[in-house]
Amino acid sequence: MIIPQLTLNNGVAMPALGFGVFQTPPEETRAAVAAALDTGYRQIDTAAAYGNERQVGEAIAASGVDRAEVFVETKIWISDYGYEQTLHGFDKSARKLGLDQIDLLILHQALPSELGKTLEAYRALEALLADGRVRAIGVSNFMVEHLTALLHTATVVPAVNQIEVHPYFQQRQVQDFGAEHGILTQAWAPIGGITFYRDSGHRSTLDDPAIGEIATAHGKTPAQVMLRWHLQQGRSAIPKSVRPQRIAENFDVFDFELTSEQLAAIDGLETGKRGGPEPADVTLATFGRPIPED
Ligand code: NDP
Repeated sequence: MIIPQLTLNNGVAMPALGFGVFQTPPEETRAAVAAALDTGYRQIDTAAAYGNERQVGEAIAASGVDRAEVFVETKIWISDYGYEQTLHGFDKSARKLGLDQIDLLILHQALPSELGKTLEAYRALEALLADGRVRAIGVSNFMVEHLTALLHTATVVPAVNQIEVHPYFQQRQVQDFGAEHGILTQAWAPIGGITFYRDSGHRSTLDDPAIGEIATAHGKTPAQVMLRWHLQQGRSAIPKSVRPQRIAENFDVFDFELTSEQLAAIDGLETGKRGGPEPADVTLATFGRPIPED
């Protein structure tokens, strides 16, 4: 299976469909990543804050897949923002992953109450890019105002903004702003995962009747239909699972095509309700925690 690639704004190619490991316990991460690589995934999305970078690195090393074929993405946590701290954050992540070079390194959140620190953290990413320690840089959970402030001072336009996008919460304004500036939207909770564990006041996207109807029409599952919706709209998607059967299911999305009416029907499911934390409310006091050295 050849996975379609997306070209980032600096020419680096990234698989359109990747594999996430948020909330995957460290003791289950090696097996999950091994199953994903075995299935054919060639992009893994982890984060310093997930506590499983070491196991991601071990799974890649043990897989027998050429390092150059696997696109590894990780994130600097807010507690490591600031120029020197973020450079050190890279060292910690690279050491745990067992890699000299990280394919895509992004800031996990904006820290709106400490914008200066956020901008300094991004300046460190620019330095790592210039040094060849990372192949591309970007951000996550940046809203239009955060991107606007960043673009004022940045010398490198972020390649990616990883944000919550699923049929019930699509953030079209942020996506459009990204598209205007060459910033690729990468969808987290692409099949609505975040709504499973937060009291967001609506059912799971997996049980949505409209998505179910489209799935039946194609002989596919609701998860596959949502992933297809992302891919056909040009987004990167990084579904997570710890179950080999679902890992395979989520990868089996390259043999059918949604019609423009079906895409529009899914677009129409927007609820305006965010499942994840409100980016404007993220502070060191509420979300800060040290990232271990090893
Ligand atoms: P997803 O939309 O990927 O959903 C994951 C959930 O869906 C899990 O509970 C999983 O359970 C279940 N699941 C997976 N596949 C299927 C399937 N085919 N049918 C039914 N259920 C399924 O949500 P995530 O929140 O995990 O987001 C994906 C990735 O995005 C994360 O792993 C992480 O890499 C990234 N992320 C980034 C954030 C950020 O702030 N930047 C925030 C949140 C996520 P099970 O494992 O038991 O199969």
